[in-house]
Amino acid sequence: MSQMENPIAIIVHGGAGNIPPERYELVQTGCREAAARGWAILAAGGSALDAVEAAVQAMEDNPAFNAGRGSVLNAAGEVEMDAGIMDGATGQAGAVTLIRHFQHPISLARAVMTSTHHLILGGEGAEAFAQKMGFEPVPNDFFITERRLAQYRRRIQAASADTVGAVALDAAGHVASANSTGGVSFKLPGRIGDSPIPGAGFYADDRFGAVATTGQGEHIIRAGLSFLVMRLLAEGQPAPEAAARASDLFRIRVSEGEAGWIVVDAEGNVGVGHTSQNISFAWRTSDEDDFVTGIA
Ligand code: ASP
Repeated sequence: MSQMENPIAIIVHGGAGNIPPERYELVQTGCREAAARGWAILAAGGSALDAVEAAVQAMEDNPAFNAGRGSVLNAAGEVEMDAGIMDGATGQAGAVTLIRHFQHPISLARAVMTSTHHLILGGEGAEAFAQKMGFEPVPNDFFITERRLAQYRRRIQAASADTVGAVALDAAGHVASANSTGGVSFKLPGRIGDSPIPGAGFYADDRFGAVATTGQGEHIIRAGLSFLVMRLLAEGQPAPEAAARASDLFRIRVSEGEAGWIVVDAEGNVGVGHTSQNISFAWRTSDEDDFVTGIA
């Protein structure tokens, strides 16, 4: 471990699915930039919660990903976004669903956690809350890129590989998890995936670690995928082993399950696992001098 007394770590994902080789560089660069944003906060002694929010915000701003600007379109040709965040120190969580007009759904999720006594706000109510909290609305068109429009027009379904998420451990020993997505392409308006559901799309508990998942939301919710991984951490498995072993548990419950997940444990080890064809990721821990990026 380099100089620092307590370990710190961050790992981000840029989505699970079928990632075409020509996009490898783009998504790995985006993952690395997001991880770097979070790492800078952790290295300066900041919180895991701030780090995962900043990392996810960076990817919401990056049109390469299926979150914020660049989100996939639903069956009506519009963007509806979900996001969730959890604080491992307090066990508090916040989430938003069906967001159509706000640039950083992850920050709305955090505001739900800190400024309401609810956990999930959806649709019009969530957007009215956002406005009340001072977030600036933008037209739905803002989120729609040429690439997503072309995929929609050509009925390309396999565009759901670019959802984003992050988990981190800070120097105070706290973990946090965050996820943000435009969901799956051609989803029915009103469809909600796993990303805003604690225990499915994300979870964080200082005693054990934190998890964020990506992939087919319906599969992830049915399996309670984040809880499956948390259970392995709670049994004492380090993050790499827990991440690897979760595939079997997931597939036992949902045999056709298509997903990926990132994990950090309370000691600052990280892990990544998937049953989907690919998952993109970037991480850095106190054991590394630089970021590790990859497509598994
Ligand atoms: N899990 C997201 C959802 O089902 C999509 C994804 O991760 O690609 O909404």
